[in-house]
Amino acid sequence: MKVFVDYEILTKSKGSVSFAFNVLGSNFEVTLIFTTKNGGFSTGDYKSLNLSPYVGDDEKTVKRNRRRVAKLLGMEDFITIQQVHGSDIVYFGKEKLRDIRIEHLDIKADSLITDAASIPIGVLTADCLPVLVVAEPGIVAAIHAGWRGLVEGVIERTIESLQNLGAQEFLFFFGPSICEKCYRVGEDVSLIIEERFKTGIMNIAENKYVSLKSIGFQILKQMGVADNFLDARDIDENKEKKVSSIAYNINDCTFENRNYYSYRRNKITGRQAGIITLRR
Ligand SMILES: [Zn+2]
Repeated sequence: MKVFVDYEILTKSKGSVSFAFNVLGSNFEVTLIFTTKNGGFSTGDYKSLNLSPYVGDDEKTVKRNRRRVAKLLGMEDFITIQQVHGSDIVYFGKEKLRDIRIEHLDIKADSLITDAASIPIGVLTADCLPVLVVAEPGIVAAIHAGWRGLVEGVIERTIESLQNLGAQEFLFFFGPSICEKCYRVGEDVSLIIEERFKTGIMNIAENKYVSLKSIGFQILKQMGVADNFLDARDIDENKEKKVSSIAYNINDCTFENRNYYSYRRNKITGRQAGIITLRR
């Protein structure tokens, strides 16, 4: 696979997308984007590009926001689901294309998979880790991974499902999320994480901090599907190179960077999205 920055989408988005990439595979192409909170129509606590219909924002305005983002992908909307910090997966198979509605769906799960073209799938976040996955021979996933989802095994289960569907070479994109310097947790949480992963907890001045991304990468490494963790900002320097087994880190902290929604910063707030779509 080859990876490129999608400058066209970035320019068109006028700040509502912070990162956009294209992946060129053997017989497919993938576009993936990460949105900010800028350039939408929501007001008040949700200002302005809130993409979640279930955080209390005005429904029509959310639809308008979603249409604005989907247009960048040449679509009217994209699929999201009711995320519940678990590890259930929903698969949108190409054989059932006619039955798939492209919009927010009332399905409870935290991971989406599709091998169908032009079915954009996305996860909604405000501090949690969005992981977008591209795999040969043309299959993609979007994972919502907070600490609970990681403990529940949402990443492992998604990789296993992808492998069962024939996925072989992988690329991962770890989107904007709360960083390890900002994600302080109590002893109750840190004990569960340490017990499960033996990594991902930092001790700073007797306080415990979680690194969602280092846990995420360790899982990929142990499963043998990624062995490099690279800065996504360097992607364009290597655009001629064939790549696989890489997790690209988008090193933006949602808590520190005011271009993003952060649940820790504002309890009542909107959600940004990581969206991925396959083309053949
Ligand atoms: Zn931070």
